[in-house]
Amino acid sequence: MVITMSAHASAEEVSHVVERVNECGYKAHVIRGESRTVVGAVGSNGRRNEIEALRAAPGVESVVAIMQPFKLVSRELKSERTIVRVGGVTVGGREAVVIAGPCSVESREQLFETARAVRRAGASMLRGGAYKPRTSPYDFQGLGIEALRLLQEASRETGLPVVTEVMSEADVELVAEHADMLQVGARNMQNFALLRRLAQTPRPVLLKRGPSATIKEWLLAAEYLLAGGNPDVVLCERGIKTFETETRNTLDLAAVAFVREVSHLPVVVDPSHATGRRDLVPAAARAALAVGADGLMVEVHPCPERALSDGPQSLDLGGFALMMESFVEPPRKVARPTAATPSQAICPSRAAYGEACELV
Ligand code: PEP
Ligand code: MN
Repeated sequence: MVITMSAHASAEEVSHVVERVNECGYKAHVIRGESRTVVGAVGSNGRRNEIEALRAAPGVESVVAIMQPFKLVSRELKSERTIVRVGGVTVGGREAVVIAGPCSVESREQLFETARAVRRAGASMLRGGAYKPRTSPYDFQGLGIEALRLLQEASRETGLPVVTEVMSEADVELVAEHADMLQVGARNMQNFALLRRLAQTPRPVLLKRGPSATIKEWLLAAEYLLAGGNPDVVLCERGIKTFETETRNTLDLAAVAFVREVSHLPVVVDPSHATGRRDLVPAAARAALAVGADGLMVEVHPCPERALSDGPQSLDLGGFALMMESFVEPPRKVARPTAATPSQAICPSRAAYGEACELV
């Protein structure tokens, strides 16, 4: 339920509502917007009638049920967009963020060369895997703690905040000590124990969409983080499994636009895992920004053919710089007939609509 306080509600009136919500068996979440404070009553075993009766409490403007299964992440509860601060970078504001770096941290040289180059090209944040979720146990699994230390050093040198994946509950504390944002990989999107643990870290979380997850499941996974006490969540669309095999996954751009409609959380797009092909990454990245994504996460490697993971989808340093330059190109104009086009062309329904239907 959403309890919206009136514009002039006093602090005591808000506290009273919070107290009543908790007494009725729900958990109260207070969201202070620019013009109004809203109290969310979230839970499944509360006394709903008593919450509805709060309509009569002083300072309360309205009490409305949230229709979506996800509550705290929904715009029904919070209409203003959430801005997540990662180090000195703002995700979800007017500017798009670009998170760039190698799939895996492989060595000091590889990481620092990449970090310096993406910084020069204008990236906002550095990525790099320390713990890698690999399909085969025989593939490179990441350098672990050594990679975390290198990421922290690279971050200090370049000033770029760092995001890296945490695969297990046991590693959360260690990763949080070294990184500015913790990534939940696609395969772990519904690892509820991990989500509950991450809800308690003071770090923002980047939540990737599971390869076969519906949008609802993805948002309900984000709900675990907010319900557990972490409001700083950035969603990441990274492509889903479909019947198509030409690309590694299918980039679901409509999901980005949809999620921005139903949720206040920022959403970024990972065109690297979505396409699996370096040649498609810049176009997919531009499409993501056009559809309203709050940013991108892109894999970059100084020598993709030697990468220990995801070489085929990694841009090289020059390719990344070129892609970054392409973001400043103006959007395409819509073609209009030139003067040479016969302006007498008549649309078939002119007979019915008269001159107004003549093409110009
Ligand atoms: C990654 O970002 O390197 C990664 C493993 O991504 P995903 O979880 O989306 O496959
Ligand atoms: Mn990867």
